[in-house]
Amino acid sequence: MSLLNDIIEKLRTKGCKITPQRRIIIQSLLKLDKFPTALELCNDIRQTNPEIGLDTVYRNLGLLVNMGIVNQINLHGKDTKVFELALGEHHHHLICLNCGTASCLDYCPVDEKELQKTVGLRFEIIGHSLELYGYCQKCKALTSLPQRLK
Ligand SMILES: [Zn+2]
Ligand SMILES: [Zn+2]
Ligand SMILES: [Zn+2]
Repeated sequence: MSLLNDIIEKLRTKGCKITPQRRIIIQSLLKLDKFPTALELCNDIRQTNPEIGLDTVYRNLGLLVNMGIVNQINLHGKDTKVFELALGEHHHHLICLNCGTASCLDYCPVDEKELQKTVGLRFEIIGHSLELYGYCQKCKALTSLPQRLK
């Protein structure tokens, strides 16, 4: 599990304490190879650690997101967030509105320096997130899908 150790090391250098819960959450994120919700993560974790509650998972996930260890991806129209380990470069996600699957897009179209010029002094930009909504290849074949978001 050297990947786990790398992540733990990254947390340490950021001055973040490695609690057993955080280690377990990271382990579970490594194990689940899709984009789990907090609830799915919690269910996975509880198979081996039944004492860990959803509150704990939420709280620690939030912290890991703030530390840049975990990416949070917002699904459209639902109050659902999914998570992935932030292993590679900063990137964005394509989200299918029909089946809810997310996939990574290894590209960032956002020029923060340009945006900062537009925003001026009233706000200092320190980061951004961006999700792209549409239909995956499988769902595109269905005819009853709306063509445009309102
Ligand atoms: Zn789809
Ligand atoms: Zn991703
Ligand atoms: Zn970006």
